[in-house]
Amino acid sequence: MRIKGLFILILLVLVLTGCEANFGVADTSDTDGAGETTPIEATPTPTADEIEDVSEADDDRDTFASETPYDREAKRDLLALMMAYPNHIAGIERADGFIYVVMESGSRIVYDDMQSKDFGEKLANADLQDMMELAYPLGDIVLLLEGDFDPGRIRNYDLLMEVYGGSQSAIEANLEHVQIDAKTYQFNGENGVAFAMAAVFAELDDIISDERVIEEFVYPLASTYYYRVIAGTDRLSLHSFGIAIDLKNVKTDYWRDATREQGQARLDVFPREIVAVFEENGFIWGGKWAHFDLLHFEYRPELIAKAKYFIEQVDGEPWYQGYPITDETMKLVEIIDDAFNDG
Ligand SMILES: [Zn+2]
Repeated sequence: MRIKGLFILILLVLVLTGCEANFGVADTSDTDGAGETTPIEATPTPTADEIEDVSEADDDRDTFASETPYDREAKRDLLALMMAYPNHIAGIERADGFIYVVMESGSRIVYDDMQSKDFGEKLANADLQDMMELAYPLGDIVLLLEGDFDPGRIRNYDLLMEVYGGSQSAIEANLEHVQIDAKTYQFNGENGVAFAMAAVFAELDDIISDERVIEEFVYPLASTYYYRVIAGTDRLSLHSFGIAIDLKNVKTDYWRDATREQGQARLDVFPREIVAVFEENGFIWGGKWAHFDLLHFEYRPELIAKAKYFIEQVDGEPWYQGYPITDETMKLVEIIDDAFNDG
C-alpha cells in the first residue's frame, strides 16, 4: 500500500511538474498559457543540412527532422481525440498554418486558434488545444489542486455540440434511458455515454453491496440531465448535454459554496473506489479541479486517453510512443502524419 501510494505520488509529481514547465500551474493568469501561443510559422525551421543529416540516420521516417515539440504534442492530442470520438471525427486537415479536426458532418474545428488567452478567456472560448492542455491526473490526489489547475473544466463547445447535439431539442433527441437505483435517468446515447454510465453503476452497485458505507456518497443522485448554464456564467453546464452526473449532494462539495478547508475535508473522505470506476469508464472527476466540484463526474474520454497513454517523450522515438500499437491506432497515426506532411 505504501509503495503504491509512493508510486502514485511520484506519477502525480511528474505530471504536475511537466505541466508547470509548459502552462504555469499555480501561476497567475497573466502567464497562463504563455507556452501555447507560439504560431507554427514562428517555430525554428531546420536548415536543409539538418534535415539531411537526420533523415540519413533515420530514413524510414523523414518527417522527424522537422517535427517540433509543438507538433508532437498536437499529434498526441489529435490521436487522443480521434480515439475518444471514433464515430464523429472523420479526419485531420492542415491548411493555412492551422490544423483542423474534420467532423463526420463535414464541419471543421480548429485545433489551435493561435490566440493568446488567460484562464478566463480559455474557459469562455476554448479551442481544442486549450481543452487538451492541462493533463488530467489519473493517479490519486491527496491535496486539493491549486491555482487554476482544473483539467477538464476548459471545454470546446463546438466539439460537444457536434457530438452530443447542437441545441436543446437535438440533445434531447439523443437521450437514452438508464436504470440507476431502481429509477430511470436520461443520458446522451451518442459516443457511448449512456452505455458507459450504465457500466459505471453496475460496478458501483457491486462495490456498494460489499461496502455499504460507499452508498452514502452515491445515492440519492443530485443531478443528471438538466439543460442549464453553469452557476455564475453564461456557459452551458455539461449536464445540458446529458454527459455529466452529480452524486449525492453535500454542501461542501462545490468551490463556490465551500472553503478550501471544507473541500479538503471532503476530499479526504471521498471513496476513491468511486473515482476509479468512473475514470475506467471514460469519466473525469471534478474533485481533481482546483475549483473543486466533488460530487461531479463528466464523460471526457479524450482526457482519460491522453492521461492513460502519457509517457515522457524521448528524442528519436515516434510521437505516438505510449499509445497502443494496433491496426486501428496506426491508421489514425497515418491520418495525422499525412495531414502534418501536407501542411
Ligand atoms: Zn455536476
